[in-house]
Amino acid sequence: MRVLLLALIVGLLAACGSVTATAQNTATAATATSVPTATSGATATASASTNATVAAASCASPATALTELTEGPYYKANPPQRSTITATGVAGTPFVLTGFVLTKSCAPLANARVDFWQADGNGNYDNAGYTLRGWQLTDANGAYRLETVIPGLYPGRTEHIHVKVTPAGGQTYTTQLFFPGVSQNSNDSIYAANMLINLSSASATPRTGTFNFIVNLG
Ligand code: FE
Repeated sequence: MRVLLLALIVGLLAACGSVTATAQNTATAATATSVPTATSGATATASASTNATVAAASCASPATALTELTEGPYYKANPPQRSTITATGVAGTPFVLTGFVLTKSCAPLANARVDFWQADGNGNYDNAGYTLRGWQLTDANGAYRLETVIPGLYPGRTEHIHVKVTPAGGQTYTTQLFFPGVSQNSNDSIYAANMLINLSSASATPRTGTFNFIVNLG
């Protein structure tokens, strides 16, 4: 009798388990019904996580804020919004610069405005138009990507790219980026060693470089 009761109880418990399992499966199936949203959300999360890891890996907290440097005489108001500032026929070695806008604690800043302007490979600015001028907003991971050329020398100046970085709702940080291994760096009064681009080898086509803009925020 006891054995029979036990068997009944076990049977009932098993049935309950089965009911529960069915309910869970139903719930899973219900969740899975909204596949497009769930899938795209998961993909976006994974991508954000990967890029956040890249950002974190390229920044050691507490990081030193960028050095603010003079705007110089060639900034032109109202540049176009674009990440490719070079064009067919522009003199200079094609160059792709990537990086992040980050706080001193390496938190990526989305929607930061990054405004670049520079001379072409012969050291000439386009002061009539907007060639080699343009601004962009960092993406959700604080990343930017610039397609340009390596700038040339002009009297008194080593190779440099001008930049204004403006975190959303924040102040503007004006600075300049420099290239390693340029002999004129040591004769340039504006040059700052901590604003050197991390440059790929000369054999890479196009040349690529990275630079993280650390703004003076916690
Ligand atoms: Fe300049």
